Amino acid sequence: MLGPPASGKGTQGSLLSEWAGIPTTSTGAILRKEKQEGTEVGKEADRLTRDGNLAPDDLILKVVRSWLERHDGAFIFDGFPRTLPQAEGLEKILEKRSTPLHRVFLLDLSMETIRERVRRRVVCSDCGKAFNLGVHVEKLEEPCPACGGTLERRRDDSEAALERRMEVYREKTLPLVEFYEQRGVLTRVPADREAREVFEDMKKELQS
Ligand code: AMP
Repeated sequence: MLGPPASGKGTQGSLLSEWAGIPTTSTGAILRKEKQEGTEVGKEADRLTRDGNLAPDDLILKVVRSWLERHDGAFIFDGFPRTLPQAEGLEKILEKRSTPLHRVFLLDLSMETIRERVRRRVVCSDCGKAFNLGVHVEKLEEPCPACGGTLERRRDDSEAALERRMEVYREKTLPLVEFYEQRGVLTRVPADREAREVFEDMKKELQS
């Protein structure tokens, strides 16, 4: 799944994973977990990404290869690939596994909605799930609705970091749209809607 910050990639990943019975992972969530565990990868990624920049391609490809070593069969990636070198790296990995890339979804939404969602977003430092202030919880101090863990704001959800993330998204990630259009696997999904409606569109596409 490709999409700007707060386009709902994580939410759709969970819904698709549950429906299709295949695992989902997010490179962003892997990096946050590494940081929480205090690993060298986590520390390096935090230092490089807290201002809204991307982590280096070789680090991301290493993290993805290591995840794939532990997962056979089909899978869903959320927020990977995010650059052309990552997409090319993924193509090589998939060739070796003899598994084709079935579909790429581009979650499309307005800048206004992105800002509003980022302002409201909190994440659980224990289970990694994201929630909206004023919708799922009233205050940051409340326990995580899913696991009772501690909720926090993401460091890269500040206004300055969001502007940088949008710049990076336009510059590095949007070229992937053409890359995957040329391969005939891209589907655009309007994501300014309820998560369930977005999911139904994706499901239909996968069933067709
Ligand atoms: P996300 O949770 O997908 O918004 O990712 C959070 C941050 O982790 C991003 O803003 C990037 O700095 C970094 N990150 C996650 N996935 C990638 C990726 N595929 N390539 C480079 N950086 C990434």
